[in-house]
Amino acid sequence: MNAAVEVSPYVSRRERLFAAIGDNVAILPTAPELARNRDTDFLYRHDSYFYYLTGFREPQSVLVVLGGAERKAILFCREKNQEREIWDGFRYGPDAAREIFAFDEAYPIEKLEELLPEYLKNRGTLYAPLAMGTTHASAFEAMLNKAIISVRNMSRAGFSAPDSLVDVYKVVDEMRLIKDPHEIAIMRRSAEIASLAHTRAMRTARPNQYEYQVEAEIAHEFIRHGARTPAYNHIVASGPNACVLHYNDSSRQMKDGDLLLIDSGCEYEGYASDITRTFPVNGKFTGPQKDVYEAVLKAQYACMDVLKAGQPFHKYHDVATESLAQSMLDLGLLKGSLAQVLEEKTYMQFYMHRAGHWIGMDVHDAGAYRINGESQTLRAGMVVTNEPGLYIRPAENVPEHFWNIGVRIEDDVLITSNGNENLTIKTPKTVAEVEAACVR
Ligand code: CA
Repeated sequence: MNAAVEVSPYVSRRERLFAAIGDNVAILPTAPELARNRDTDFLYRHDSYFYYLTGFREPQSVLVVLGGAERKAILFCREKNQEREIWDGFRYGPDAAREIFAFDEAYPIEKLEELLPEYLKNRGTLYAPLAMGTTHASAFEAMLNKAIISVRNMSRAGFSAPDSLVDVYKVVDEMRLIKDPHEIAIMRRSAEIASLAHTRAMRTARPNQYEYQVEAEIAHEFIRHGARTPAYNHIVASGPNACVLHYNDSSRQMKDGDLLLIDSGCEYEGYASDITRTFPVNGKFTGPQKDVYEAVLKAQYACMDVLKAGQPFHKYHDVATESLAQSMLDLGLLKGSLAQVLEEKTYMQFYMHRAGHWIGMDVHDAGAYRINGESQTLRAGMVVTNEPGLYIRPAENVPEHFWNIGVRIEDDVLITSNGNENLTIKTPKTVAEVEAACVR
């Protein structure tokens, strides 16, 4: 049960969906409940699109939006059920849900199949998810198909079925790309909690601990602030594991002299944060570690300068690549000229990912990166990660003192009308800040 439901953001998002669909009809289901093993489910997580338009977190819910003169937002959800509530907890039921979440109508989910043909009558276009990619997609699509067929069968009575399907997610993607003040406030808090967790990891990590012990400190900090789950699987990667980009095992015993790369963010009130910090397990960078760290930090700062409204989204990746490539030359990791390194992409031995992504309800959030092949332009209200890195695996052409050093530095950055705001600014970042945070 939501502690206090602030409905106006969801109502105004539905207003925008009404405007987008004209006389037509839209339908969006929430996510399915997923079995983990035998009779145990994964902790339930709503669908982001559905939640964006409803603020409603219960499973087995569907939103129907009727455009045109009818203009109705209709929720289908679970009925009140005393016995199920004793076992599984509170549910709103259609009447309370309609009232509290400001829908025009609400019905038990079991009624959807029966009412659906009615909603599709004489609507030219159906806005529905196209290829949802979830396990209940086929059942949902089958229900839609059945409803369309039943409307077709009413043609002699003068009714027509929709003759085109538009991906409703694509319409909502555009909306989700620009965060409203309600979202920004939550994202700021999500970022702050993740920041506290990284600071705690710096303060508590010790040589000879296992990576999972550090993960426990992070999870503890998330949960005690009301962020019950990470936004993605924690990456707690010490020593050589830092050079495995999606390392999820958290099983290695950390050694004196290791760097520890932590990529971890929480989900708070449905919004992700995503921070990476890299710090010495014993609290003090070695010379080579510091050199690599400073190179990544320099690239990250350079990226901050171009994360501004009006800049193409792809610009900061190019800035990161150029800065890191120059540092690779300066550190003796690569030979040749900068132009050559960029042309031949030899930098990819040490920097092989993009400089960042949209972030919001999903850690890799909705929204196009390119439009007709052209880079999306940054606008106020977009939120991106800024995360350059260097990953130096042992190799013959690499000076041995750099072997197994992996560094990534990642912040969440809100584009504003006059620049940007680093939402994760409270996380220690400079060498001095990091070493101070590691003080034992
Ligand atoms: Ca990350």
